[in-house]
This record gives sequence, C-alpha cells and structure tokens, in this order.
Amino acid sequence: MTHAPLMLDADSGSDLHRIVIIGGGAGGLHLATRLADTVGRRRAAEIVLVDRYPTHFWKPLLHEAATGHRDPANHHIEYLAQAKRYGFRFVQGQLGDVDRDACIAAIGAVLDAEGAEILPQRQIRYDSLVLSVGSVTNFFNVPGAALHALPLENVEHAEVFRRKFHAACAKANHRLETAGVRSSPAVSINVIGAGATGVELAAALTHAADQLSAYRFQALDPKRDVRIRLIEGGVRVLPALDERVSARAAAALRRLNVEVVTGARVAEVRADSLVTGSGDTLDSDITVWAAGVAGPAFLKSLHGIALNAANQIIVTDQLQTQGDPRIFAFGDCAACPSAASNGFLPPRAQVAHQQAMYLGKAFAQRLSGKPVPGFTFRDAGTVVSLGQAGATYQTGGSVPSRALIVNGAAASGLYRLLYRKHLLGVSGFKHAVLGVLAQWLGRGSRPAIKLH
Ligand SMILES: Cc1cc2nc3c(=O)[nH]c(=O)nc-3n(C[C@H](O)[C@H](O)[C@H](O)COP(=O)(O)OP(=O)(O)OC[C@H]3O[C@@H](n4cnc5c(N)ncnc54)[C@H](O)[C@@H]3O)c2cc1C
Repeated sequence: MTHAPLMLDADSGSDLHRIVIIGGGAGGLHLATRLADTVGRRRAAEIVLVDRYPTHFWKPLLHEAATGHRDPANHHIEYLAQAKRYGFRFVQGQLGDVDRDACIAAIGAVLDAEGAEILPQRQIRYDSLVLSVGSVTNFFNVPGAALHALPLENVEHAEVFRRKFHAACAKANHRLETAGVRSSPAVSINVIGAGATGVELAAALTHAADQLSAYRFQALDPKRDVRIRLIEGGVRVLPALDERVSARAAAALRRLNVEVVTGARVAEVRADSLVTGSGDTLDSDITVWAAGVAGPAFLKSLHGIALNAANQIIVTDQLQTQGDPRIFAFGDCAACPSAASNGFLPPRAQVAHQQAMYLGKAFAQRLSGKPVPGFTFRDAGTVVSLGQAGATYQTGGSVPSRALIVNGAAASGLYRLLYRKHLLGVSGFKHAVLGVLAQWLGRGSRPAIKLH
C-alpha cells in the first residue's frame, strides 16, 4: 500500500486501545457516541470516527429531503460538535484502503468543490476497526440505469432530485402559462422499486406536487399534469411485508394519484423513457432507482475480507469479519446472519441501531476481558410513511400473516417517533427535546416545502 504523504493525523500518542469507526451514519454515529460516553470516558479506549462528510443526516429522511419537506441544513448534526461534546475524535475523509498487517486505515484527501486539496491523504492506526459505511444503489446491471436513473443515497442525491423536480415543474408550468396547451401529463416521474423507500418517496411526491402548485406553479394542476408512477417487478408493493400491508399501501397510493404498476421489470433506462421487460416504453422526465442496495464497491479491495453476492461484508454473530477478528462491520454494509430466516438481516436503520447498541456493550466487555455474547436482532416491526395518507405499521415476527397491522394516527405517530428516537440516542434527552421544539416553533415562519 503506497500513500503519500504519510500523516498520522489522528495519532494522539496515547497507548490506549484505539477503536476507529468508519462511517458516521445511522449506526456509526450511535456507536461512536456510545463508546465515547462509556469506554472513552473511563479511559479504557480512544475512539476515532471517520466520515467522508462533515455532517450527519439520518438516511431514512432522504425522501423528505428529496421532496423538499425537510431541509437537510436544519436537520444535520455536525460531527465535530458531537465529537467535542462526547469526547471522540472526528476525521473527515473517505476510507480507501486498509493495511491489515500494519493495522492502518488509509483515508483519502479532502478536496474542495474546484478539486483543490483541503486535507491530504492520511493514515490512521487502529487496534479495532469498525466498518459502518452503509450501502450504495444496486442497479443490477440494467442497461442505462446507472447513467440515467437517479439514486437516493445521500443529501447530494436528494438535492439533485429536488432541483430536477422543480425544473421539470417550472418548464411545464411555463408551457401551460404561455401556450395554454395541455399535453397530459406535463411532468412524468418514475420511481423504480416499490419497497419502503420507493413507496415513501412516491407518496411524499404527490404532496410536494400539490404544495408546489399552490405556492409556485399555479398553472400546473398536480392531479392532471404531474404523473408519478411507481414500478415494481414483483406482484405487489412492499413485497417484504404482509399482503394486508401491501394492499392497504397500494390503495392509499392510488388515492393519492400515484400510478402503481406491478409485475413490470424495467429492462432499460433511457434519458427520457423506460423500457419494460414486456417491451412497453414509458415516458420519463425523471427516473429514480429505489430497487435495491449493495455494499460499496471499494469493499472489494479489502483483501481477505469475505463478501456476499451483494458485496456486503460477511460477519460472524459477534459482527467480526471472517478474515480478521480486529475488523468489525455492521449496518447496511454487513451481511449478518438472520436467526429468523436462512439469509441475512435486511438493510434497515433498525438493524444498524441495534447492532450499534450491541457493539457498544461488546467492546466494553471485550476490553475488560469478559465473555462477549452473540448479537440477536429483535424485530420491532416496520412502519412505512404514506405521506398525506398517513402510515402503516406491521409488528415484527417470523410469520408475517400473524403480524398485527396498525394504520392511521397511531402508525403516523410511530413513524414520527423513529427519528425522535434516533435524535435521543445520539443527542441525549435535553438536546433532542430542544431540537424538536425548535423545529416545531420554526414551522409557522417557513413554507411547508422548500421552494427554491
Ligand atoms: C429514502 C430512504 C428511506 C429509508 N427509510 C427507512 C425506514 O423508514 N426504516 C428503516 O429501518 N430504514 C430505512 N432506510 C434504510 C436506512 O436508512 C439504512 O438501513 C441505514 O441508514 C443504514 O445505516 P448504516 O449506518 O449502515 O449506513 P448509513 O446510515 O448509510 O451511513 C453510512 C455512513 O458512511 C459514510 N461513508 C460511506 N462510505 C464511506 C467511506 N468510504 N469512508 C468514510 N465514510 C463513508 C457515509 O457518509 C455515511 O455517513 C431508508 C433508506 C432510504 C434511502
């Protein structure tokens, strides 16, 4: 491994056991905070968090950032502030490579928007390395998908989508105002994949179209002029959930004016259209790919670390990699065996959160020489937002048909609780309550949607 220049940026000269966590997302930020607050505070270990971005934004809110219902600037957490408050070190940069023999993680240079170097490449020594780098979009090699379909992995992607959505609406509105000609529909958005991400995005988009028409694009009739299509290869939406939840979600989406197309596999994505497996061509101004995730490509370069077919790191029940017990992985980037099925745990915030809690405890046990039990996932159920149509919640358990289904206000309340629970975990009670209160108080002074 050659890197220049060599800078042990996060080397404090201490001989404490150093735990380096790569990725401060839904799981990594929890883990860094918890470890710093426990083993770090007791001076039993030194905690370093690395992320390619300077701020954290909770990924399950990305569809709300994409539709403009949530401004990421009001909802991010500064890693440096969190590090100062809890007592860990934060290093900005992207993990490139790991020298497992020397126990060194190579962190890439940080560049500005013009490509000029702000921070050079650095190398960080570790005693334990934890990979929580999340997932990337899996385009399944569908021709044109990576080129023409938008992914929704981070705040930048959400912002790209939001700008394109506004631009498409602005152009259509202008056409309607000047020519007055109605070619129906004027804006066509296709969301590929009707898992939770696709369903939540499609539902939120109908609300965004209504609000944009009310505030900004008055010539646009959102029901007639904006077509939002949700395309699913399987026979029903939310295929991982019980059929009752699928039926309720599909009906709610249709009521919201989403065109739900099931049993249609997308065979090709073009700049302005899609082609399905049965040969139909569908117009598309904007195509979003929400049909699956995979581990980040760079994981392939970590020699000796076993990956599954979806490029996720295969871990033991103690979340250690098979090739190296000093390297741990969890969250979306890890393939953790599921006790309830023959496969792996799903890529969900709930899994990442429970694994972070587990690892926080496991490191404390390991450092004090105590035995470490294996990780057990307890499925607390799944809640899916249906935008203006509320939400739907299915309790956990290995037999979906026995699950309890909750809809209406109770499910919407549960959905809102998820983010608050996350805030509580990373910010503590006082900061979480103050944050929620500040958002609530600010509501009246801002439009319900980001307008520009
Ligand atoms: C729109 C949307 C809605 C969702 N809704 C839900 C939901 O309602 N419920 C639910 O349970 N799950 C939901 N999910 C899934 C959930 O967001 C993920 O399962 C969860 O965020 C995984 O957590 P993680 O810590 O593994 O990864 P992430 O939260 O993705 O964090 C990964 C972190 O690693 C950093 N990183 C990546 N590569 C590198 C690198 N090379 N070097 C340094 N840093 C790096 C990233 O910047 C990021 O901060 C949703 C996902 C999306 C996209």
